[in-house]
Amino acid sequence: MINTVIANMMPFMPKSFVRFFAKRYVAGGLAEDAFLLTRELNDMGAVTTIDLLGEFNEDPAKARATVDMYKHVLDSIKEQNLDGNISIKPTALGALVSMEFCTENITELVKYAHEKNIFVRIDMENNPYTDYTIDLYLKLDAEMPGSCGTVIQSCMRRTLDDLKHITSTSSKANIRLCKGIYKEPSDVAFQGRKEVQENFMSALDLLFSKKAYVGIATHDDVLINGAYDLLKKHNLKKEEYEFQMLLGVRSELRKRLLAEGHTLRVYAPFGEDWIPYSIRRLQENPAIVGSAIKGFLTGGR
Ligand SMILES: Cc1cc2nc3c(=O)[nH]c(=O)nc-3n(C[C@H](O)[C@H](O)[C@H](O)COP(=O)(O)OP(=O)(O)OC[C@H]3O[C@@H](n4cnc5c(N)ncnc54)[C@H](O)[C@@H]3O)c2cc1C
Repeated sequence: MINTVIANMMPFMPKSFVRFFAKRYVAGGLAEDAFLLTRELNDMGAVTTIDLLGEFNEDPAKARATVDMYKHVLDSIKEQNLDGNISIKPTALGALVSMEFCTENITELVKYAHEKNIFVRIDMENNPYTDYTIDLYLKLDAEMPGSCGTVIQSCMRRTLDDLKHITSTSSKANIRLCKGIYKEPSDVAFQGRKEVQENFMSALDLLFSKKAYVGIATHDDVLINGAYDLLKKHNLKKEEYEFQMLLGVRSELRKRLLAEGHTLRVYAPFGEDWIPYSIRRLQENPAIVGSAIKGFLTGGR
């Protein structure tokens, strides 16, 4: 309740107050901040996926500027020999302008990255974009195998069907599995925590049984422990999966996963759009306000 109240008041609060909640979650305003963070995390044994903030954009010029900025990120990853890849969002790359325009932009970026041997993750947004994102991923994966992957959200009722389709279409599916951040209606998504957790475990079991490469993207101990059991059950080697975490969340868990020798990828967002992004995230999931306060008190990015 108190979290919801604070989250809804965020747009009216001073920038410095919003920064208190937001700063631990973003690398900074510039691409160079994301490169520095990647270097820092690489030195600790972690890898990153770099995300330029600014989705739900209706301006074609801004979408093209996003393509250019991502090319700069890809060039820099290569030149600076950083261990990282990129995460992109359809609504940042023109989906609100037209799907054709968005497809052109994403295709251009995936080709550019593929030539540099850098992987692209196409993030999953809210349900109007689910079919589009999966179809585009499968098309690009068929044209350029291994170039890209997408994200599947365990809150969605359709998840297991989507995964059966993906794993029967792609010769080597690459999926980030997460719960899903967007508020979705109850006919589309499970609303209960337990159902979302159970669907996550069923989805992970299915993905492992189909030999997909999975980014296990969660900070939930129930799911991490469940993943450990499935890693044993499927007898997976360390290079056959990775754990993924958000910047600023549960740094003690990050250290533990690294100490155990798992590949650990940190989501590293940057950009000037950090305030609207953070406020939106807090409003979409007010529980994060409580987590942020808890995270702040326990310290560490
Ligand atoms: C690498 C990565 C990429 C993602 N990509 C997408 C995507 O493409 N599409 C999408 O819909 N969603 C995405 N998500 C978000 C995801 O769907 C969840 O909303 C988010 O990870 C929280 O779920 P959880 O499994 O960590 O469980 P939760 O139950 O939410 O969190 C478990 C515990 O982690 C801690 N925690 C969680 N969040 C925070 C926080 N913000 N601050 C401090 N502590 C916190 C708390 O201690 C909490 O109790 C991504 C998540 C990750 C890790």
